[in-house]
Amino acid sequence: MSCCDAPNLMPIEDALQHMLSGIKPIQQSVELKLQDAIGFVLAEDLLSPINVPPFDNSAMDGYAIRIADLEKSDTLPLAGKSFAGQPFEGNWPADTCIRIMTGAKIPAGCDAVIMQEQTETTDSGIRFTNQKVKHNNNIRPVGDDIQKGDVALAKGARLTSRDLPMIASLGISHIKVLRKPKVAFFSTGDELKPLGQPLEEGQIYDSNRYGIKPLIEKFGCEAIDLGIIPDNPETLKATFERAQSEADVVVTSGGVSVGEADYTKDILDEIGQIGFWKLAIKPGKPFAFGQLDNAWFCGLPGNPVSAFITLYVLVQPLLAKLGGHTEWKPQPFIPAITKNGFKKSPGRTDYQRGIYTIEDGQFYVETTGNQSSGAFRSMSLANCFVVLEQNRGRVEAGETVQVQMFSSSLY
Ligand code: AMP
Ligand code: MG
Repeated sequence: MSCCDAPNLMPIEDALQHMLSGIKPIQQSVELKLQDAIGFVLAEDLLSPINVPPFDNSAMDGYAIRIADLEKSDTLPLAGKSFAGQPFEGNWPADTCIRIMTGAKIPAGCDAVIMQEQTETTDSGIRFTNQKVKHNNNIRPVGDDIQKGDVALAKGARLTSRDLPMIASLGISHIKVLRKPKVAFFSTGDELKPLGQPLEEGQIYDSNRYGIKPLIEKFGCEAIDLGIIPDNPETLKATFERAQSEADVVVTSGGVSVGEADYTKDILDEIGQIGFWKLAIKPGKPFAFGQLDNAWFCGLPGNPVSAFITLYVLVQPLLAKLGGHTEWKPQPFIPAITKNGFKKSPGRTDYQRGIYTIEDGQFYVETTGNQSSGAFRSMSLANCFVVLEQNRGRVEAGETVQVQMFSSSLY
C-alpha cells in the first residue's frame, strides 16, 4: 500500500500552507501594565531606556581595593563602607580598603573587589590572603546585562514569566502589546448534553468544549464559548452569524464529516467560502476551513481526540500567525525506540498518543492503549505524540519512531 491508495486526502503540510497563506497578523495594540502583559505578544521592539546594571557594582561581599595599594602591602586599613543602596561617598585615602556588599556601587578608583573569604581582620586592618588579584575582579560593569538602546526583546515575542523580570529591570511599567485574537467556539450535535444533567437514551456529554477553551486560551487568544448548538439549521445559522460578529475566528466541533449535516454546508456556503477537506491525518480526517464574511472558520471533527488534535496541529499555527506571535514554532521531533508495536496503515500521518521515558540517555516510547478517535483517555494518559509518517505501515517493537513532546499548552 502507498499514499496513493488514499489519493483524495490532503497532506497536513498542504493544509497548513493553505490556511496560513491568507492570514494577516492583527495590528491593533493596547498598552498594559507589565504585570498584566504575560501571554500577550509584543507590538514593537522593546528598546532599553537605561543600562542594566545602571552602575558598576560588586558581585561579592568583600572589600573594594586598588591593586597598586595591595602591591605595597597585604594589609589595608578600612576607610569606609559601600552597601547596596548606600554608596561610599567622600574621599578614599590611599593605602586603605572599603567594605563592600553584593550589589553595592563600586567606589571611584577601585580596581577589584576581594571576597571576604580571602581576608582576615587584624589590628592593623584587613589582611588579604591572596594578593594575586586581576583587574575588575568581582566587578559587574555598567550595562553588563543590557545596554541603553539595545533591543531587549523583539516585536512578535510572546511574553513569558522569563521576560517580565528582565523588562522590569529596565524600569518599564507599561508595555504595548497586540490585542489577542478572539475565537468563538461551539459544539454541534443533537446528542450532546451539558454537564450537570443526566443523560437520556442516545445522549453523551459535550466534552469537546472542555479541551477547546483552555487550548484557545493557552494559544494566547480570547475564548468566547457559545455553548452547544443542536443540529437545527435556523439555530446554527444564527449562531454562526453571532460568532462571526464577535470574533476573528469561529471554531466548531462536529458536523463536518461526510454525509452528515448537509445544512451546515449550505449555511456555510451562504455566509462564506468554506472548503470541506479530507486530511491525511489520523485522527482528524474531516476538517473544514475557510472564510466567513467577517471571520475565519475552522470546523473540527466531532470525535473528541480528532477535535483536540486538529486544533493543536492545524489551528494553533493559524492563531499564532493571526496573533502576531512570529516566534511560534511546533515542538521538535525526537527519535525514540518503541517498547511495543503500533498499528498503522499507510495513507495518513498518525498522531498516536504515547508515553516517553528516558533510560540511560535513550528515548523510549510506549502506547497509551486504545487509540480510537473517540477514546480521550489516550490523550489524558499521554506525555507525547507518536508521529508516524504518512507512508509508514505497522511499527514493530524496537523500531525507531518520532515523538513530539507536548508543549506547555497541553498542561
Ligand atoms: P460528528 O463529527 O458530528 O459526526 O461527530 C462525530 C462523533 O463525535 C460522534 O460520535 C459524536 O457524538 C461525537 N461528538 C461530536 N461532538 C462532540 C462533543 N462536543 N463532545 C463529545 N463528543 C462529540
Ligand atoms: Mg454531529
